[in-house]
Amino acid sequence: MDNNMIRQLEEGLYTFPIPLPNNPLRELNGYLIVGENEAVMIDTGFAMDPCREAVYGALESLGISPEKLTVVLTHLHSDHTGLAGELHEKGARIIAGKTESWWIHNIRSDEVTAGFQESITRFGLEQDGIHYYDNPGYKYASQEILELETVEEGDRIEIGSFSLEVVDLPGHTPGLIGLYCRERGCLFGSDHILDKITPNIGYWTEGFDSLGVYLQMLEKARSMKLKRVYSAHRNVVEDPERRIGELVGHHDHRLKEVLEIVGQGHKTVREIAARMHWDLRAKDWEAFPKAQKWFACSEAMAHLEYLHLRGRLKRTLVEGVYHYASA
Ligand SMILES: [Zn+2]
Repeated sequence: MDNNMIRQLEEGLYTFPIPLPNNPLRELNGYLIVGENEAVMIDTGFAMDPCREAVYGALESLGISPEKLTVVLTHLHSDHTGLAGELHEKGARIIAGKTESWWIHNIRSDEVTAGFQESITRFGLEQDGIHYYDNPGYKYASQEILELETVEEGDRIEIGSFSLEVVDLPGHTPGLIGLYCRERGCLFGSDHILDKITPNIGYWTEGFDSLGVYLQMLEKARSMKLKRVYSAHRNVVEDPERRIGELVGHHDHRLKEVLEIVGQGHKTVREIAARMHWDLRAKDWEAFPKAQKWFACSEAMAHLEYLHLRGRLKRTLVEGVYHYASA
């Protein structure tokens, strides 16, 4: 790889782009923190050749062998974990949060497959011919069974002049973790706070109020009085306070939009998602790629459930499909 793809952000901290082909996220920001005889990498990219080239190229340019590498997986999504299995085989140590490690191990399991397949039915998405196997999270997941070391809130990873403190920031996924450098006032925030694009907050399982939890975790990040967030996609967030305010405002607006659509008499998650505004170039719902239909429904349902759990909407199950109505 081209050496000038690697940028130094601070003494000992490097970033490099990991391409995500055919994905609206475009790139993952790879982060490498280099110590004297070891290094920490945050997230990996998909199990795909363009990601391999970027990761191994960066490691080579900085003279880091996989045996000297610790990889921290911030959450289960395959654009963050896809290469973890093979990096582990080459000698890297792999670390993840406790909750996420369950998901990473089980993402292709019968239990998770059945759960997601049931969500497709509940959304009313069966008529679009969508299957869990279409989800890039399934397709480009790490193949090998990983030997993961788990960390918890407050644990520290010391590397070079960086002291990285594990912070739980669930919402985008059930157990996303960030790495906080208290002395520097910066956070490796993964997909918790992104600039220009909005993190996807979707539906996971019954009882996990993903949007409610996410909004709480935005307040948690706000209370850290951060100077900077090194996020997993797009820009470094240079004004976290302002960006957090924008994200809260975005979901507030989304909740109002959903209430309005339900008020017009649209009932199923699919019907509601099709009427929400999405920043996609597709001309209508039918033109949405399958994976995007899923993400749209998942995001719509996170907002519907937020309102349902707070008594603002009623939910009923009609022939396997959830119907929402004003409470
Ligand atoms: Zn993600």
